[in-house]
Amino acid sequence: MGKLKFSVTLIISFLMGNEDRKKTIPLDRNIIAKETEDDAIFNISLRPRALNEFIGQSDVVANLKVAITAAKQRKEPLEHVLLSGPPGLGKTSLAHIIAREMGSKITATSGPAIERAGDLIGILTNLEKNDVLFIDEIHRLSKVVEEFLYPAMENFQIDFVIDKGPYARTIKFNLKSFTLVGATTRTGLLSGPLRGRFGMFYYLDFYSPEELSMIIQNSAKHLGIRIDKNASLEVARRSRGTPRVANRLLRRIRDYAQIEKKDKIELELVNRAMESLGIDEGGLDEIDRRFLKIILQNYDGGPVGIEALAANLNEDSGTIIDTIEPYLLKAGYLKRSSRGRFATERAFNHFGLPFSEEKQKRLF
Ligand code: ADP
Repeated sequence: MGKLKFSVTLIISFLMGNEDRKKTIPLDRNIIAKETEDDAIFNISLRPRALNEFIGQSDVVANLKVAITAAKQRKEPLEHVLLSGPPGLGKTSLAHIIAREMGSKITATSGPAIERAGDLIGILTNLEKNDVLFIDEIHRLSKVVEEFLYPAMENFQIDFVIDKGPYARTIKFNLKSFTLVGATTRTGLLSGPLRGRFGMFYYLDFYSPEELSMIIQNSAKHLGIRIDKNASLEVARRSRGTPRVANRLLRRIRDYAQIEKKDKIELELVNRAMESLGIDEGGLDEIDRRFLKIILQNYDGGPVGIEALAANLNEDSGTIIDTIEPYLLKAGYLKRSSRGRFATERAFNHFGLPFSEEKQKRLF
């Protein structure tokens, strides 16, 4: 076995070349894309550690419990799991929980971090039996890397091609059986063959204010500050249905409480803090409002295409689709059709703009 591992290392070195070797992804690195450094430190300590501690997403949690218990009874790895949903809803947390519940190690990386098949060879050959490999933003894997992953997912095997032209040879290498947990904000961008190789798919939806309020109460305890029930519900209502946002707001509000020498967060403080942070009664932040105002004022309510909106907002269209639109759609401020994006009556009302019968007919 030692010999085999050594020769694989040689093949990897051969395939990767010097420059690539420097770029090898350190194993066990936790990619925390989309989070600020502050968020990261704070959130890692707040991450729920077991399925029983995971608040909300009850169907997903119940299904995972059954699948994990059954796999453990059979002493087999869990089938590959695909988690999808907007950022900040707990996909990474769930991947870590799956590994912990299975009693195995997790290696975390992300689609954009795996530039070449060579990067993946190193990761895959280091996995132990029943380990979890977590790939965040899996829709951003390159085609070549994705195709390299297929036999690894299907038969726990990888194919190396050595040499070129008439001397080219394929060597098969057996991997230990592992579980791939993929996370994506957009299942639509995942290729059919990759999607088809996952045994389980779970969609994480936005959290209810009551669920978020429980998360906020737990986080406050962790931070050593008390918060009134109605105050945590108000923070929850304005957190865009997202635990990451709820925790971030709680941290900001804690700053206000500290400066005002308060040992308890009350509703009045929450309302004042929200106003200074630019989060309105409807829970919309500055970017949400700019986005909706462009549709309402520049395009008379719509329809407007995503690229035009991206240009007006000076944002990348992917970021708009991933981070701005899902909540506005869910909260009923926005509608999407093949003709483009529309502001709803709720959006008109939010900004005190008239919504006529004629407009309703034109838009919907
Ligand atoms: P994603 O991978 O979907 O972007 P994360 O798993 O990184 O989201 O979650 C962001 C943060 O939100 C976590 O670090 C954790 O603190 C918090 N969080 C997410 N889901 C939950 C939950 N169900 N219960 C408690 N906290 C949660």
